[in-house]
Amino acid sequence: MEIDMDVKTYQYSGKQKIVYTNNSPDTLSVVFYHLFFNAFQPNSEMDIRLQNIKDPDDRMVNNTGTREKPVLESRISKLKADEIGYIKVNSLKQDNAIINFTEYGTVLKATLNQPLLPGASTNLAMDFTGQVPLLIRRAGRNSSEGVALSMAQWYPKLAEYDFEGWHANAYIAREFHGVWGNFDVKITIDKDYVIGGSGYLQNPNEIGHGYETGKVNRPKGDKLTWHFKAPNVHDFIWAADPDYIHDKITGENDVTLHFFYKKSLKKEYLENWKKLQPKTVELLAFFNKNIGAYPYEQYSIIQGGDGGMEYAMCTLISGERSFGSLVGLTAHEFAHSWFQFVLATNEQKHEWMDEGFTSYISDLAMDKIMQKEQKNPWLSSYQGYQYLAKSGLEEPQTLHADRYEYNFAYGASAYNKGTVFLTQLGYIIGQDNLQKTLKRYYTDFKFKHPTPNDFIRVAEKVSGLQLWWYLNYWIQTTATIDYAVKEASGNTIILERIGKMPMPIELKVTYSDNSTENFYIPLQMMYGKKETEATVLKNWSWTSPTYTFKTKKTIKNIEIDPSGLLADINRDNNTLR
Ligand SMILES: [Zn+2]
Repeated sequence: MEIDMDVKTYQYSGKQKIVYTNNSPDTLSVVFYHLFFNAFQPNSEMDIRLQNIKDPDDRMVNNTGTREKPVLESRISKLKADEIGYIKVNSLKQDNAIINFTEYGTVLKATLNQPLLPGASTNLAMDFTGQVPLLIRRAGRNSSEGVALSMAQWYPKLAEYDFEGWHANAYIAREFHGVWGNFDVKITIDKDYVIGGSGYLQNPNEIGHGYETGKVNRPKGDKLTWHFKAPNVHDFIWAADPDYIHDKITGENDVTLHFFYKKSLKKEYLENWKKLQPKTVELLAFFNKNIGAYPYEQYSIIQGGDGGMEYAMCTLISGERSFGSLVGLTAHEFAHSWFQFVLATNEQKHEWMDEGFTSYISDLAMDKIMQKEQKNPWLSSYQGYQYLAKSGLEEPQTLHADRYEYNFAYGASAYNKGTVFLTQLGYIIGQDNLQKTLKRYYTDFKFKHPTPNDFIRVAEKVSGLQLWWYLNYWIQTTATIDYAVKEASGNTIILERIGKMPMPIELKVTYSDNSTENFYIPLQMMYGKKETEATVLKNWSWTSPTYTFKTKKTIKNIEIDPSGLLADINRDNNTLR
């Protein structure tokens, strides 16, 4: 792509050429593109959804009422013509011949002149113009912290075609899915603007701005053309501001970590951005060790956007943060590189595999590098999930990310329930097997868009246990876990499964002589058990609501799940004295 940006009007022109290979077994007669910026227009699908959802994102609305009686107004609905976002496609060609297309808001459907056979390639060429919207959500101009350009979802982006067909979803709210490719991008912009983004800069000594490797020799003129290459990515984003500080530090495997943040930040925030840099080196090493090697040569942490959002080789985060918050957010967004970016599950369909797995590993990383040493680093995820499960608003995780009735239910499901999916899998198969599963999953499925079944099959192979039932209950239903001690007398214990979802059970019994014994009750349909030092009892089948067993000594008290890793929604009935 070649882009020419006008920083005064926020308009840009672009030329895009794609060599598109059909790696599917199907003949393609159409292609789809995303035109994401068209969402930021009054009456767009995003705008209408924003006006109708019961708990809109507060970044996207103005409150024209009071705090007690809020009256929320869509910020998109108020955008003027020179403030909206758009991508206008001026022409589209296949192998030098014009092809016809129809626009549906944020989606473009083009009919190919020549159907594309399996294994064949074709050239698609597009001329377009764009306007950067006021920053309403994720991308746009003039962020609340004054960053000039946060350029995500900014170019006409080919949609993904896979075994499920075209993923040509309108831009309503969230989550993305893209095609792997080698990007070659030239951005022409006023020469005092500093760019951070997805690619490796090819002409650092023509640019300077902290990228130079020798003497800077800038071409004449008011603008500079930045030439980036980004191999094997499914997105390309950038941010630009004339006021950026640009720092670099080298991490494990010679990965260059770049930091872009505004000179105008308050002194305490500037200090936090400096102290963040060695912590990011530690984060890189932690993720390399616990998931697998980061496959690119650079990663950039860029002040921009409206919170934190993960992209190719970089993140845009808001920068006015306490040190703990800045490191925590960086840990989360950087961890996304392994899940959202390199594994790249379809996060519109399986958002929990992205947000949940990312939160799982970043919580663990924060516990380590900030020396927190918590008993359960995921405690807040358990609490968030339990709150969701009891709220009456939970929907199954198989629902498309945009379709949840409440943003709250989406968030708690993707992040909290997604995290608990993994921590609880550790409870089921053992923590060592969970660590092995995560690493093997990354090795086997990087750059392959894995599905939930791909992941659970890895866990089955590593553990030797049947786990399909766990995937079925946890992601396809809203069934909950609630086990109780029903009765105990003398040395007889009766347990009860009250919740619909069955699990293997760990139990700690204290006897009247104050000695203790741990028990493990395998779940029949797993056809096996994790390694345990507990006394293993007979299997419990999901068809039996109760379970009775006898101990050798008289019982004083009983506790189900002393580890706290079972997502039991009512722990009050887990103990009996
Ligand atoms: Zn995230």
